[in-house]
Formats: sequence, structure tokens, C-alpha cells
Amino acid sequence: TQARLPWVKSLEQFDFSFQPSIDKKVIRQLTSLRFIEQAENVVLLGPPGVGKTHLAIALAVKAAEAGQRVLFLSFEQLMTKLKKAELENRLDRQLQQLIYPRVLVLDEIGYLPLTHQEASLLFRLIARRYEKASIILTSNKSFIDWGDVLGDQVIATAILDRLLHHSTTINIKGESYRLKDKRKAGILT
Ligand code: ADP
Ligand code: MG
Repeated sequence: TQARLPWVKSLEQFDFSFQPSIDKKVIRQLTSLRFIEQAENVVLLGPPGVGKTHLAIALAVKAAEAGQRVLFLSFEQLMTKLKKAELENRLDRQLQQLIYPRVLVLDEIGYLPLTHQEASLLFRLIARRYEKASIILTSNKSFIDWGDVLGDQVIATAILDRLLHHSTTINIKGESYRLKDKRKAGILT
């Protein structure tokens, strides 16, 4: 249970009344952690501040508490790791290592466009874990925009095909929790 989470968040701390587009029943099903046994993925989509990373961490914490090996990487951290490994001619071994955690949280895909190398590294990781171990992925981009983000429709389709084959997608449509007090104070309209 070496989790390396950026911060610890729990489901108890999550105010579901603030985000009514989230189906609590789906979250409850996920907390049974059956998705991990079945190597299924969880995809959290939505604009900034709606709680994607919070929920991803909360699920990862639950998994770690249940004794599962969990790894949290921002998309940027993942790319740094994989590019370094490729440069040092040990990409295959690095990818192999990234299969061991039963849950891999991949946080914040889509904020920056990917280079061709990055898209192809992401594909290799997702193909490796496919049907073996779960990914919890967060993104501010809807699937339809992945072709643009990845700069390659063919790779985007191949990634989404594997990622979504056995998966639960939670599409959060709502306001940023970060800005809620500012909004209340009339700083934002
Ligand atoms: P995202 O990853 O979607 O950009 P975060 O999960 O980082 O958003 O949430 C931003 C901040 O707001 C975090 O501190 C998070 O704990 C908090 N937060 C977001 N949504 C909620 C919520 N519904 N209830 C309680 N805290 C929330
Ligand atoms: Mg986030």
C-alpha cells in the first residue's frame, strides 16, 4: 500500500449535493472495488474544479485500505517517466513495472496537447494494462475531443477502444467547487 497520493481525500469529504450530475449509486458500486477485481477502468470527465481528482483519490484510498497496490501519477509525471525510460532504452521494463499496481490513477489528461511520441507512449501503457489492471483516469476533455488532444485520430480511437471496453464513465457537469465561494461573494458572475 505504497500509494504516493498528492493529498488524501475521502468520499465522506465529498459534497454530492454540490454536484447533482453525479449518480451516487454509481459511486457506491465503485466503492465495492469489484471494478478492481475485474480489471475495469474508471473515467472521470468534466471541467476544472468539479472534483475529478478528489473522487479518483478517494477511490484509490479505498483500494489501498483494502490492501491493493495503488499508484497515482499525473499525466505529466507519467510522460516524464516513460520518456526517460525510452531514452535510456528500458521502456519495456518500465511499462512492465507500471502493470503491477492494481490501480493506476492517471490524473489530468487533456490539459495540454500531446506530441506524437506522448500519444504513442500512452497507447502502449493502456494496451499493457488492458484487461489486467484498472486505470482511474481523469480528463477535462470529452471523448470526442481526444483525437485533437492526441493529435492523431487513429491512436485516440485505439486508446479509447481499450480504455472503455470494460469501464465506468462518470461525466461531471457542474460548477467548480474551487470557485463556489468566490461566486457566492459576487466576485464571479
Ligand atoms: P478537478 O480534478 O475536477 O479539477 P478537484 O478534485 O481537484 O477538481 O477539486 C478541487 C478542490 O475542490 C479539491 O480541493 C477538492 O477536494 C474540492 N472539491 C471538489 N468538489 C468537491 C465536492 N463536491 N465536495 C467537497 N470538496 C470538493
Ligand atoms: Mg484534477
